[in-house]
Amino acid sequence: MSHFFFENFKFLILCWIALGLTTFLYLIYSKKRAPYGRHIKKNHGILIDNSLGWFIMELPALIIMPVLSLKNINNPYVLLIVSIWFIHYFQRSIIFPLRINTKKKRIPISIVLSAFTFNTVNGLFNGYHIHLNVSETNLFEFNILLGVLVFFTGMLINITSDNKLISLRKEKVCYKIPQGKLFKYVSCPNYLGEIIEWLGFFIITPSLASLSFFLWTSFNLIPRAMNHHKWYNNSFKNYPKNRKAIIPFIL
Ligand code: NDP
Repeated sequence: MSHFFFENFKFLILCWIALGLTTFLYLIYSKKRAPYGRHIKKNHGILIDNSLGWFIMELPALIIMPVLSLKNINNPYVLLIVSIWFIHYFQRSIIFPLRINTKKKRIPISIVLSAFTFNTVNGLFNGYHIHLNVSETNLFEFNILLGVLVFFTGMLINITSDNKLISLRKEKVCYKIPQGKLFKYVSCPNYLGEIIEWLGFFIITPSLASLSFFLWTSFNLIPRAMNHHKWYNNSFKNYPKNRKAIIPFIL
């Protein structure tokens, strides 16, 4: 099994990207919405606590990629890549679920399982890439400096936008129109920030594995941002007309 995995590593990632593209086209043309948060519906099977769900679904990413890279952790380039990955996933799997104000809210186990599977596969591809392809790289190369800048810019946008949304949710589970910062231009700057982060990661460590992560993040979050945007427009008569879904002035 592991022999097959290594022999066909690139082919498997290409299949993974093709699956992501198919999912993207399906989400765009069917207008289907991932049933969690504001898009949750009745009859979505077993539900579990929302914060616990976030912890479970993000945990494989926090563990798998760093563990697979441990062998080469003395290499400063690997240490940089793993640190960036770990910072993001520590934030997403531990801090974010503790901070979200969705107490008593529940998430379908189907969503948790599909995100758990995504994070497992993505962690395996990116971890094995580093396991197999490590090289001595000067940390001051242009692409690395640029990628780090892009990654942390995306992270700043993602976290400050999530913070804004979290602060809108005081006691009751209700939605308000977010204002200020990048919300002036787009409905989902948190998703835009997330996409920018993984673009930065790809620039730091260009490979089919990191490309597949960047593409999957876009394939997943662009349709969801379009659904959120439509939902805001349908839910609030006074929703700002010139605000776009995810890319300022464009989409
Ligand atoms: P949302 O923007 O849908 O929600 C973020 C949080 O804010 C939720 O707790 C939500 O509550 C609350 N919220 C959102 N809008 C409002 C509002 N207008 N008023 C009050 N509260 C609001 O993000 P997601 O939950 O989909 O994602 C959370 C994070 O995970 C994001 O940073 C995203 O980038 C990341 N993510 C990454 C993915 C990837 O593929 N890499 C995939 C999915 C998410 P509620 O849940 O009740 O709606």
